[in-house]
This record gives sequence, structure tokens and C-alpha cells, in this order.
Amino acid sequence: MHPQDFEKVVSPVSVAHFSQYKLTASLLKQLEDLSFHVYTSQVLEGLNHRPLKGREILLGHECVSIDATGQCVKATAAFLEEGKYMQKNVQCNILVGTDGAGSTVRKLVGIDLRGERNLQNLVSVHFLSRDLGQYLLNERPGMLFFIFNTEAIGVLVAHDLKQGEFVLQIPFYPPQQNLEDFTPKICKKLIFKLIGQELSDIDVIDIKPWVMHAEVAEKFVCNGNRIILAGDAAHRFPPAGGFGQ
Ligand SMILES: Cc1cc2nc3c(=O)[nH]c(=O)nc-3n(C[C@H](O)[C@H](O)[C@H](O)COP(=O)(O)OP(=O)(O)OC[C@H]3O[C@@H](n4cnc5c(N)ncnc54)[C@H](O)[C@@H]3O)c2cc1C
Repeated sequence: MHPQDFEKVVSPVSVAHFSQYKLTASLLKQLEDLSFHVYTSQVLEGLNHRPLKGREILLGHECVSIDATGQCVKATAAFLEEGKYMQKNVQCNILVGTDGAGSTVRKLVGIDLRGERNLQNLVSVHFLSRDLGQYLLNERPGMLFFIFNTEAIGVLVAHDLKQGEFVLQIPFYPPQQNLEDFTPKICKKLIFKLIGQELSDIDVIDIKPWVMHAEVAEKFVCNGNRIILAGDAAHRFPPAGGFGQ
């Protein structure tokens, strides 16, 4: 890929890598544009004691139990109000569990995952460097950089070349290595080894471990098609290539 390739428009829809915090903000904005009301935990007072209307999104609510024995599905959600845990009951015809790979909905209805677990341990390093962004933008633009050299191995994911925002995925091997081995200082050194030069403006924001699994739920619907699993609750794949969902 060359810098001039960015100028070519060959598809009406462009591929983009978005950091989760940008994606979440953009999705919430889209929902509001579609006349949904999104309530954060700060503005929920009063709302929690009346039935839900249509097009209402309540943030900060955790599904803790489900009863699908009657005509409709009854879900209980827990939330914090003035430091106390409260519960709210929600009735619906269909419940869609989109609560991620560790899905409580899936566990509550007793659906197992099948596939391969613990394929690889990795550390995600979220960092900023405008210098690296500018260098890549001018010399080697791209979204994903698979880097192997004698000093280090990693996959560099460019989330925003202009702002210099990146996530580096580094494989690690417990018990020979521990998460504590990946301090901000060590991560900076690894980044310098991978890109072959020191960056004066590097800012490591976050370091988090994760484990790669490849698992699919044994079924996606149950209770007379009234409970449905979607997204990672139904299938979690290795994100290699960044083409996840
Ligand atoms: C390290 C890593 C990198 C990845 N990179 C990419 C990538 O570059 N591109 C890509 O397309 N995909 C990528 N993926 C995959 C992608 O992140 C997931 O496929 C996607 O986030 C799944 O979306 P989801 O909405 O199903 O679940 P999630 O994004 O996990 O969202 C689940 C939501 O449910 C909430 N929740 C959990 N429990 C409850 C409960 N009991 N009640 C109510 N809410 C609950 C959670 O707080 C969360 O907000 C990556 C995954 C990993 C682990």
C-alpha cells in the first residue's frame, strides 16, 4: 500500500479501525438520531420505578436472572442507585443476549460453548505516538502491521494514523512469563524494538491481558425461539486480521 492509495475510492463504504470508546460514542449517537432515548446511570432516577417504554436504552443495568416459563420472558436487571444495588424487572416477548463472550444470558439458559479454548495468551498495549502515526502515514500506510524480528514479535493495529493512536498485540507465555513482566517501561522498549527506533512522544495508556478462544454456542435460540444469542455471546473468534464481526 502507498500513500496515494488513500486517495482512491473503489467502494461506497470504507473499512475503518475504530477504538472501542469511539465506536461506542458513535453507536449511541446513531441511536439518538433514530429517536432512541439513552439513559446513563446519572439520569436514571425515577425511570427505574416505571415500566420500560419502547426505544429506551438503560445503561448501567446488568441482567442477573431470566424466567421464560410463562407467556413472556421476564428478565431481572441489577443497577446501582445511591450506592445501593437495586433490581428492575423487565417483561418482553423476545430477549436477545448480546452480553459478550462471558454471556450471563447464555449461562442462565444453560447453553454451552463448543470449540477450542486458550489458543494463545496476549497482552494488548494501547498507546499514542503522533510521530509513529506521521511516519506510517507518509511511508507505509496501513491498518495492520505484522512485525517479526529477532528482538520481538507483535501485531500493530493502527486505530488512527493522524492522531497516532495504536494498539499493539504481544503474545506471551505463562507460566514462563507473567502479566507483571509487561510494565509501561518494558512495553515502550518492546515497541521501540518492533519499529526499529525510539519515539520521544510515546504515551502508553493501558496494558491488558486477554486469551484467544475459538468457540461457538451449541445453539443460538432456545425457549421456543424467545431467547436469542447474538455477537460474542453466540460465537467468539480469534480477532486475527481484525475482521471480527
Ligand atoms: C483483543 C481483541 C481485539 C479485537 N479486535 C477486533 C477488531 O479489530 N475488529 C473486530 O471486528 N473485532 C475485534 N474483536 C472482536 C470484537 O471485539 C467482538 O467480536 C465484539 O466486541 C463483540 O461484540 P458484542 O456486542 O457481541 O460483545 P461485547 O463487545 O463484549 O459487548 C457485550 C456488552 O454486554 C455487557 N454485559 C455483559 N454482561 C452483561 C449482563 N449480565 N447484563 C447486561 N449487559 C452485560 C458488557 O458490559 C458489554 O458492554 C477483538 C476482540 C478482542 C478480544
